[in-house]
Parts: sequence; C-alpha cells; structure tokens
Amino acid sequence: MEQQELSFKAMGLSSSVIKALEEMGFEEPSPIQAKTIPIILEGHDLIGQAQTGTGKTAAFGIPIVERLDHRSKRVEALVLAPTRELAIQVAEEITKIGKFSGIKVVPIYGGQSYDRQIRALEHGAQVVIGTPGRVMDHIRRGTLKLDHVQMMVLDEADEMLDMGFIEDIEFILKNVPENRQTLLFSATVPDPIAKLARRYLKDPVHVNISPERLTVPSIEQVFYEVREFEKLDALTRILDMEEAERTIIFCRTKKRVDELTEGLQARGYTAEALHGDLNQVQRNRVMKRFKEGGSEILVATDVAARGLDIDNVTHVINYDLPQDTESYVHRIGRTGRAGRTGTAISLINPKEFRQLRQMERVLRVRLQRRPLPTPADVAE
Ligand code: ADP
Ligand code: MG
Repeated sequence: MEQQELSFKAMGLSSSVIKALEEMGFEEPSPIQAKTIPIILEGHDLIGQAQTGTGKTAAFGIPIVERLDHRSKRVEALVLAPTRELAIQVAEEITKIGKFSGIKVVPIYGGQSYDRQIRALEHGAQVVIGTPGRVMDHIRRGTLKLDHVQMMVLDEADEMLDMGFIEDIEFILKNVPENRQTLLFSATVPDPIAKLARRYLKDPVHVNISPERLTVPSIEQVFYEVREFEKLDALTRILDMEEAERTIIFCRTKKRVDELTEGLQARGYTAEALHGDLNQVQRNRVMKRFKEGGSEILVATDVAARGLDIDNVTHVINYDLPQDTESYVHRIGRTGRAGRTGTAISLINPKEFRQLRQMERVLRVRLQRRPLPTPADVAE
C-alpha cells in the first residue's frame, strides 16, 4: 500500500479543508501527514514521531477539523503544547485549516488573564490549545469543562517532558473522558514518553518517520573559531558576509541575550531579544515583528525559542554553544524547515573544542570549519 503517495484529496478530506490547505500553500502532505492522517481519521490512537519542521501540527490539526462537530458549543478537542508561543502557533494553524469549516479555536496559556480566557471559552470553543499548567488551573477552577472531549493531543511530548510537565499531563488525562481518541506527537520517544503512552493510549499505532541521523541534511552546519572577546566583532562580519536575512542567534543566558541585542542594535542591526523575563505582550510583539520582517535578528535563549515555527529563517547562529547536543539539534531545527535550506553557524571558542567533537560524534556529522572573514572581505 502506497500511503506515502496519498494526496490530501485522496484522503477524503472535505472540500472546505482542501480549500483552506490550498490557501495555506499546502500542496502535498508531508510524509508524517500522509502516514498519520488516514489512521487518525479512522479513530485510532496514535504515536506520531518525526523530527521538527516536518508538519506534525497539521497531521493532527487536519483530522481535528474533519472529525469535530462544528455546531457544538463544547470543547471537543484538547491539545497540550509545551510553551505559550507554541500554543498560539498551533491555534493559528488549526484556525487556518478550519477557516471554511466554522470551528472555534482558543489558545490558553500562562501570563494572560484568566478572565479573558474564560470569556473566550464561554463563547463556545470546540478546540482548546493550552499549556499543561494553565489547563490544569482551569480544570481546578472549574472554568474548563472537558467532559465532551473526543480528541486529546499531546504535542511535542518530549519537550513537555523536558520541561517537567509530566504530572500536570497525567492530571489532565485523568480529567478527560476515557472513550476519547488520544494522539501523541513527538520528535523523540524516550522511555518516560513510551511509558505514558502505554498508560493512556489505547492500542496506539506507532508511526515513525525519523531518519537515521538526528540532524537534517538541508541544514549546512559550519563553525568559526573565535575567542570570547572577539565574538561580537566576528559575528557582525559573519552577518554581513552571509547576507543573512532572517537570523536567530542563541545565547546561553538572558543576560548574554540582552547584552548581545544591545551590542547589535548599537551597530545598526534590527535585533530584538526573546527570553523568559519578557511578559506575554512583549513576547508576542517581538515574535510578530520578526515574523513580519520588521526585525532581521532574534536573539534568544533556548527555553524562549522552544518549538517556535518561524518561516524562512535563513540562519541560526550559536553565539554560545548549547549545554547539550539535544539543544543543538533543537536550535538548528529552526532553519531548513519544510524542505528549505538553511545555515547553522557556531562560534566556538578554543575551550569548547572538546564539546564540539563530542557533539559531532553523537550527531554523526562534521561541522565545516570556516576562516573568519577579514574586514576587507565584507568591505564591498
Ligand atoms: P513540526 O511540528 O513537525 O515541528 P510544523 O507543524 O510546525 O512542524 O510545520 C513546519 C512548517 O511546515 C510550518 O511552517 C508549516 O506550516 C509547514 N507545513 C506543514 N505541512 C506542510 C505541507 N503539507 N506543505 C507545505 N508546508 C507545510
Ligand atoms: Mg510541532
């Protein structure tokens, strides 16, 4: 059976969803979508495993829009996502898919007033996308009724686990009807996730699209050797030479993020900081400007950038190497998404060489070493 070849039409999707997907520019299903959507539409529980940027959101978003009763005034699908940004992003994508189907989607997350969320829920949302902590709070306050939930999705399950949400998730799973459909999507399925799936999913189908290698070939990975005090200078030269258009730069700490952002701004770059000290309104604003091209550089910590789907990122730069290899994979996964190519650049100080080699062994890749551009290289 050549499921891989199934077009959206051949999946038997409704014309309103097909039309929405056309507007979104989704011509063909991605491999994870081709494999999972038919199974989800049949009502099976499922574990969908594929690396970041492979279209997991629509893999559950499309069946949600197809399967729900659009006239219902009750919450029929609940999606849990690790961060506020991701909850908003998933809500936006499902809203787009449901544009001609008349469904209501509401994101609920920490850092926004309960009143506003309660009002949105009272308006009759069929799909709720939330972060685990906030969803749990609403359940406890009695402001989120889940007794009509038919579809339950754990999105980016590995990241939710990393962020310590496992107990909240279990609490929530105990508060949704047992005869629901449960879907779990994740880039990796470590033991605790497999265990969670065994406890809360019914006879799930496991679809795994993960390639042999952890990183994507469409991302060119290079490094420059730079001593700590030269970093900012080297960075600006690299930015100029690369003609980087949309760049995310990662630093290890919030303080480093702020310092680098100021340094770049002082040198005439439109850079903005994204980290956990910003309130929700500020974060949304920063994200909006970056997405719309109003700022060319986003300087971020790992936590702030988790799971973010930003289109057309041309460059990811590790101003500081991340603590571990997994974070490296997450970081560079911000570029080279949806079949586009991207460049991942790491600035490595001589003390970090051992860590670099270690990372290369785990990833089975070799980062290409590049000579630092001289001021003359970028003069013209
Ligand atoms: P994941 O959750 O696997 O990391 P996302 O769902 O965020 O990936 O999708 C990554 C990007 O690919 C998004 O910009 C999304 O809109 C786009 N995308 C998803 N499916 C398709 C498709 N079938 N055709 C074109 N673009 C797609
Ligand atoms: Mg995702």
